[in-house]
Amino acid sequence: PALIVAIDGPSGTGKSSTSRAVAARLGLRYLDTGAQYRAATWWMLRNGIDTADPAAVAAAAGKPEIVSGTDPAHPAITVDGADVSGPIRGPEVTGAVSAVSAVPEIRARITELQRSVARSAVPGIVVEGRDIGTTVLPDADLKIFLTASPEARAARRNGELAGTTGAPTLEATREALARRDAADSGRAASPLAKAADAVEIDTSELTLEQVIAHIITLVEQ
Ligand code: C5P
Repeated sequence: PALIVAIDGPSGTGKSSTSRAVAARLGLRYLDTGAQYRAATWWMLRNGIDTADPAAVAAAAGKPEIVSGTDPAHPAITVDGADVSGPIRGPEVTGAVSAVSAVPEIRARITELQRSVARSAVPGIVVEGRDIGTTVLPDADLKIFLTASPEARAARRNGELAGTTGAPTLEATREALARRDAADSGRAASPLAKAADAVEIDTSELTLEQVIAHIITLVEQ
């Protein structure tokens, strides 16, 4: 059976960089589940679906054909055959993704997709998200839950955005992250949760390299 590592946590904890590096160094596949919710959101916006209307989103939930590449070096994602890796990081998608991912029909479809990708991964996979250890793959071999202080998260997020035009201030980023946290957790079933058997790592004072090394040690135990 495939070796499954679940890495959950909010954005700005270094989750994506950490997950990709762990997968690459261990020769495992990689799945970014946030990208799948973003891709579904991109499709809704592109097709004129009102993302604030849960019934409209639910009715269209089965329509987008989302395919996730699992190469940690090039994790491309396509919707109906079009590569949307760039556009799913834009502000329109980021602003609408919390509402779309709150719709149960969307979660059910994407969860099913995630399970089939994980089960067929050879020799294993690192799956990053918010509900992987609790809901999607509760039988994962190792579960990690990453946290960081609001200040550290905002600083990381701005580091990622540095060089892009109109980069926001640290304070604006901290507020934007807090807003998305609230939107993600204000819904009926918040996806972000630490599994009882997850190892929690506070990354605020750690370098990326230290977090990666810690997780690799845990996998190899
Ligand atoms: O990780 P990322 O910031 O790209 O995730 C985008 C959004 O997708 C989150 O804010 C959340 O609303 C949703 N999401 C989710 N469940 C996951 C991963 C992401 O609901 N497993």
